Amino acid sequence: DSADYDSEVESICPFCGVGCQISLKVKDNKVKYVEGINGPANEGRLCVKGRFGFDYIHHDHRLTKPLIRRDDAPAKGLNVDPGNWGEVFREASWEEALDFAAKGLKGRGREVAGFGSAKCANEEAYLFQKLIRQGFGHNNVDHCTRLCHASSVAALMENVGSGAVTATFNEIGNADVAIVIGANPVENHPVAATYFKQFTKRGGKLIVMDPRGVGLRRFASHMLQFRPGTDVSMLNAIMHVIVEEGLYDAQYIAAYTENWEAEKAHLEDFSPEKMAPICGIEADVLRDVARTFAGANAAMIFWGMGVSQHIHGTDNSRCLISLALMTGQIGRPGAGLHPLRGQNNVQGASDAGLIPMFLPDYQPVGDDGMRSAFTEVWGSGDFSAEKGLTVTEIMDAVHDGDIKAMYVLGENPAMSDPDVDHARDALAKLDHLVVQDIFLTETANYADVILPASAFAEKSGTVTNTNRQVQMGRPAVTPPGEAREDWWIEVELAKRLGLDWSYESPADVFAEMKLNMKSFDNITWDRLARENAVTYPSLSADDPGQAIVFGDGFPRPEGRAKFTPAAIVAPDDVPDADYPMILTTGRQLEHWHTGSMTRRSKVLDGLEPEANCSLHPSTLRRLGVAPGEHVRLSTKRGSIEIMAREDRAVAPDMVFLPFAYVEAAANILTNPAVDPYGKIPEFKFSAVRVEAA
Ligand code: SF4
Repeated sequence: DSADYDSEVESICPFCGVGCQISLKVKDNKVKYVEGINGPANEGRLCVKGRFGFDYIHHDHRLTKPLIRRDDAPAKGLNVDPGNWGEVFREASWEEALDFAAKGLKGRGREVAGFGSAKCANEEAYLFQKLIRQGFGHNNVDHCTRLCHASSVAALMENVGSGAVTATFNEIGNADVAIVIGANPVENHPVAATYFKQFTKRGGKLIVMDPRGVGLRRFASHMLQFRPGTDVSMLNAIMHVIVEEGLYDAQYIAAYTENWEAEKAHLEDFSPEKMAPICGIEADVLRDVARTFAGANAAMIFWGMGVSQHIHGTDNSRCLISLALMTGQIGRPGAGLHPLRGQNNVQGASDAGLIPMFLPDYQPVGDDGMRSAFTEVWGSGDFSAEKGLTVTEIMDAVHDGDIKAMYVLGENPAMSDPDVDHARDALAKLDHLVVQDIFLTETANYADVILPASAFAEKSGTVTNTNRQVQMGRPAVTPPGEAREDWWIEVELAKRLGLDWSYESPADVFAEMKLNMKSFDNITWDRLARENAVTYPSLSADDPGQAIVFGDGFPRPEGRAKFTPAAIVAPDDVPDADYPMILTTGRQLEHWHTGSMTRRSKVLDGLEPEANCSLHPSTLRRLGVAPGEHVRLSTKRGSIEIMAREDRAVAPDMVFLPFAYVEAAANILTNPAVDPYGKIPEFKFSAVRVEAA
């Protein structure tokens, strides 16, 4: 009832990449509740996080003043209570804190690295990469895309020529077959999952492929619960059948692709009969899936981190791209490739150049013309043509003594790095760590200076969802205490680093981004303020944007997409007698990433207050552990104790572990080995020992 609030403000949910539009109902500078509105991705729908997960912004742990580490503080470590930090930090004015932050960074060139954020707006991401490139002359700037879809983007850039989705997820409404592989949308992209369920209700065939019996299995025409890490053998077997039975689209292949003969020859070795014992799916089922997919009028492929977070993550995506190309399932209504993005602005932050090998719009840092185009717009600051270091390489470089100072905006590597002990030791070693965040995160524990920033509901900024929809976020309340908007903090820091920055608003930043980002053609700040969302590419000032791309060729040489054959690569950390089971990590519905936001939300933390892992009932019986009791999980890297849950969807030789809980941090256990192309760690496969605690 409108008496419950003084004002309502339209914005974007801060959690997953679906990008649901919301209305924030505000009274006395507090968000009272949230409703879904009619955005292009959600049409009024919201999941539990979007509806109830907003109250973290008013939590009493919010940082309200700049903080500087005390001279007599204890040694750096996880020793700070976020509600009681007085022994470690002292309050400072913005002047003092910004001067101190800049002094520790200035003039250090390659000794500085930057971690930006997929939770911040496009303008904030753009400013962050600019600050590192223009301010320090190199490309050591990255963000959490490295830990989620870097391998998908590597494969898409290589074979399709663009890292974004070729069709929005809503296009499933025009499909008759869809594959969802290595993704659990019911928990991780819940509103997208509602469209997937509707698709099956009107007769669409949903092929679900996952080592876990994920929630969509109840709607699936085919559920392929394959052995972890065997994606390539399973997908190549399916493609083998399509070749063997002549089910491919020869006309499409001839018109729009290259390297088909090599792919065809490569697939000869992957008969379903040969691959069935490897992937654990019967040959007949593989044949049926191949015929179903190839027989579709329009088919889409969706994938998540179950595909990307492997040392063969790029190969997994290469297979999915090849499958779509050989059947001509790209560039038409209801057809396309769609890696489901995790964070609300991971697409936009990547587009904005928060990547060590790419400038905004994925222009390679080695391209002299593009570097000059950027320095011309920036007015100064030549920067290196050499690719910068990735998130995990930066931590190694700290241990090697090459990186000595870091600026971290809205990321939490002390929880999210694939080897957190290694990362925490690295953070403790730094000469100077600047952390900009809304809470005193685990990473902020190691900071020399903390700059209190803004939550999504306290600032303006655009974000880009998994569908390529650029959407407008608006301020509904003012930041608490002296906390400030992120873009303002970046500008003030840049000025103190000697950069000539004079932006007065995020709209000014957006205007500059447009100068060298063709993806924003026909999209203006005023248009977004008016329309709330425009999909890129937009072909004219009144085109709402193209839901489907590549109907007429690809942004590659001669307009052709490419087949890249993929061979079987074994996981890095194979089970043995000491570590006989397989650990896989992920998210759960109620909690978000490292938990810094959702664990401070009353409803969400009330629903899932305790760290937990899931095991098959037969495994629990064998261990003599009842559901709710504790188990010890150990890998070659460390050990945690955690409450065990019974879950038939988890195979008997697996354990599923959410990574949101600091008291049982999953990444103490995970394997930092990376995919050679996307440099993404193998979060989805580690050898593990499970014992009663
Ligand atoms: Fe927010 Fe994603 Fe849920 Fe939508 S589906 S309400 S964007 S968390």
